[in-house]
This record gives sequence, C-alpha cells and structure tokens, in this order.
Amino acid sequence: MKIEVVGGGPAGLWFAFLLKRRRPSWAVRVHEQNPATATYGFGVVLSDAGRERVRSAAPAAFDRIARRMERWPDLTISHRGEAVPVDGNGFSSIDRLELLRTLHGLCREAGVSLRFDAPVESLAEVRADADLVVGADGINSRVRTALEAEFRPRTELLGNRYAWYGTRQVFDTLTLTFRSNPDGAFVAHHYRYAPAMSTFIVECDAATWERSGLGSGAGDAASRRYCEAVFAPDLGGHPLISNRSEWRRFPVLACERWRHENVVLIGDALRSVHFSIGSGTRLAMEDAHALACALDESGGRAADGLERFEAARRPVVDKLLAGAAGSWSWYERFAGRMHLTPHEFAYDYMTRSGRVSDDRLRAIAPRFMRRVSTARKEASTR
Ligand SMILES: Cc1cc2nc3c(=O)[nH]c(=O)nc-3n(C[C@H](O)[C@H](O)[C@H](O)COP(=O)(O)OP(=O)(O)OC[C@H]3O[C@@H](n4cnc5c(N)ncnc54)[C@H](O)[C@@H]3O)c2cc1C
Repeated sequence: MKIEVVGGGPAGLWFAFLLKRRRPSWAVRVHEQNPATATYGFGVVLSDAGRERVRSAAPAAFDRIARRMERWPDLTISHRGEAVPVDGNGFSSIDRLELLRTLHGLCREAGVSLRFDAPVESLAEVRADADLVVGADGINSRVRTALEAEFRPRTELLGNRYAWYGTRQVFDTLTLTFRSNPDGAFVAHHYRYAPAMSTFIVECDAATWERSGLGSGAGDAASRRYCEAVFAPDLGGHPLISNRSEWRRFPVLACERWRHENVVLIGDALRSVHFSIGSGTRLAMEDAHALACALDESGGRAADGLERFEAARRPVVDKLLAGAAGSWSWYERFAGRMHLTPHEFAYDYMTRSGRVSDDRLRAIAPRFMRRVSTARKEASTR
C-alpha cells in the first residue's frame, strides 16, 4: 500500500509511526509544510487518563516521549487571590517541539519517509498514485477544504478571545487564574511544560477585549504588557513570550463525514477540541492509533479500513465533544460568576459539564469536596 500523510503534527506522525511499525512493507510518507524545527504555541497538557490511553498504543515508544514530560498530581483554581487545590486531577505536559522531535525520531527508525518544508498545495498532487491520503493537516486543513462538499464541515467561532503565550515563570500545577480589572474579567490557563518554561494562555470575553483596547489593534508588545499587568501577581516579574501569539477566536469544528473514497481526516483537520479540556493532542493521537489499527486489520483494503476506523472512533469522539461543549460554554460565561467565593467558584468550574455529580466528585477529589463543604458551613454561620 502507498499512503500519503498531509501534515506532520502529532496526528500525522503518530499515525505514520504506528502503521509503518505494523506494516513495514507499506510505503508511508509524511509531508510537512514547516521545517522540522518549527511549531506554533508552547507546551501542551494531557490528563493522566489521556496519557495512559495514548501510551497503550506503543508503550516503549511513548515512554521516550514521557521522559520529556513534566507531571503533577493536582489542578489549582485561583480566584480572588485564593488558590483552591483540586486533588485527583493529575496531568502531564510537554513542549510541542520536543513532542514532534521525538515523533520524528520514532518515524525515521520505523522507516517512514519524512518531507519537511514541503507544503502540499493541492490534494491532487498527493492523491494521484496513492492508495490512501490521510489529511492530518490541522484546523485549517487544505485536504478538508478541497473536499468540502464531501466532508461537510461546520464551524462555529466562539465569542471569547485568547492569546497563547509562554513565560519563564514556573508553576507547580496546572492552574486556572481568574482576575478582574475595570475593563472586565480575565482567565489565564498556565502550567510548566519544561523545567524552566510554562504555557500561559490568556482569555477574556469580547466586551472585555474591546474595552481593554486589545481589540483595536494593540499589537503584540502592547498586548503582552497589558496581560503582564493583569497577571502581575502570578508572573513573578517574568515577561510573557510570544510565538505568533495573536488574539484569536476558537473555531469549534466538526465534520459530518469523516472519509471520502481514499481520503480520510484525523486530528484537528477532522474536528477541534477546546483547549480548556486539554485533549486535542491526545485525541489526535488516539485517532492516529485507531486508523493504523483499522488499516492493519483490513489488510490493505483501504475502504474497509476507513469504515472500521469510523465505526470504532465516532462514538468515542462524539461523547468527548459533548463534554468539551459544556466546558467552552462555561468559559464564554465565566465573567458572570466572578462574584462567587473561591470554593463556590471552583465547584462551579468542576461541575461545568453538567455530567459530574457530587458523589462522583467526592470519589475523585475527596479533599476538595471536604473543603467545599467546610467553606459552605462557615458561610452559613456568618
Ligand atoms: C491555545 C491552544 C492551546 C492548546 N492546548 C492544548 C493542550 O494543552 N493539550 C492538548 O492536548 N491540546 C492542546 N491544544 C490542541 C492541540 O494543539 C491540537 O489539538 C493538536 O495539535 C492537533 O494535532 P494535529 O496533528 O491534528 O494538528 P496540528 O498539530 O495542527 O498539526 C498539523 C500539521 O500539518 C501541517 N500542515 C498544515 N497544512 C499543510 C499542508 N498544506 N502541507 C503540509 N503540511 C501542512 C502543519 O504545519 C502542522 O504541523 C491547544 C490548542 C490551542 C489553540
């Protein structure tokens, strides 16, 4: 079989590696538009459960990635200057570039052909003599656009604005810090992803963004200065670092169809996953695993493999996207909850999907729930 993969992000590289390892005689080639040393953003985070699911595809190979990861056992929600720890929510993180570099090494060892600085300008150029084309080319997928009528994508742009920064300030845990000023309310999603580097995503609603002047072409330096002032108590004097860190609106994307003839989409090209649930990378890598298994099982009959892939994967993805919707819609309205006490606010956040009962939360995060009930008792006696 001859397989062309468009896009060398986590989805395309993990897929190419897993498939080539199972089927060494098949030709697997990855086309990446960027050089091997470039990427966007900073670090990405994976929940402990998500990390184990990805690891199960190839434990020894994944452990090479895991060696580069930072890990911590709790989540922290910081509101009104009070840090509320939420136990039972372990996470790992990794520099995006380290993740990609390790995947490059795994692909090369397995015999995958990697082409860098190789943008695919049209689907036809890779499809001509391929048995299968895998569109793993991210949220602005050219493969998806070329077959828009067939894949039928739907995109909804969220109202909130966000900018993805880095900083040398090092944080103990994945932390959501909420702060207000006269312009409105802001949240930073921040965590260390390397011993001396952290991700720092700043988010606010559209009205706050306009009032703050960030919406009227403030530019990169002025935007960073503004956010550094909002989060001065958290940044410990460290500046924010930019990597094409423009203000964006998150596109919630889903495709009605996942495959057409010998073309299939995986990862962000197929659907986006809001960063507040920290699952885009692991979902992309799980797609990759599911597709590699399905093609292997189908023994080279691409149509059969793609059918198996969709049947196995769609129910899992649909369930996760429903949870993600609960999460991003909470962020779209968080400014209206800033009056809550730190513990009530953290509780509201933890139950934002509408699918976590108190009993379940008590089982996952017993110390947190004990603190919530103590804070409630104290409030009722005041
Ligand atoms: C602010 C923010 C924070 C995030 N935080 C997290 C997080 O903490 N945890 C997490 O799991 N996920 C996070 N994500 C999501 C995560 O980055 C994506 O879900 C993940 O990278 C998807 O992997 P992918 O391989 O499908 O796509 P991508 O990583 O986008 O890779 C696609 C690749 O295709 C290449 N490409 C595109 N077009 C072409 C072309 N025509 N020819 C050749 N190559 C092409 C691109 O250069 C790119 O390398 C975050 C996203 C955002 C926006």
